[in-house]
Amino acid sequence: MKRIEHIGIAVKDLDAAEAIYAKLLGNPSYKREAVESEGVITSFFQVGVNKVELLESTDPEGPIARAIEKRGEGVHHIAFEVDDIRAEMKRLKQAGFQLLNEEPKPGADNKLVCFIHPRSANGVLIELTQEIR
Ligand code: ZN
Repeated sequence: MKRIEHIGIAVKDLDAAEAIYAKLLGNPSYKREAVESEGVITSFFQVGVNKVELLESTDPEGPIARAIEKRGEGVHHIAFEVDDIRAEMKRLKQAGFQLLNEEPKPGADNKLVCFIHPRSANGVLIELTQEIR
């Protein structure tokens, strides 16, 4: 893995959270993007070489809505950048990690993504991301 690419934060109200994070980080969100397959709208902030991704659910049954229901707003996942997502998925599967998707899927911000179950990583949902070239 190359680096932490972004930290995903589950929020109830994207407009309100964007205003808070713009103030906190000292720069505005550079992009908003809906990910239909996940039932979310995302908003990205650049922080040096890393990013913060705010996630608001558009689907009351979606993963972000369920996470907020269970644990409230807050850090939802940590995303690591990889060069070859299929190779990393294979490596982690062989090492006993539980992948939440068997094939890489399109995520926000021009990425292929795969999630690893929090059970496999001490309670932290892990996302692998590879830039789509
Ligand atoms: Zn993410």
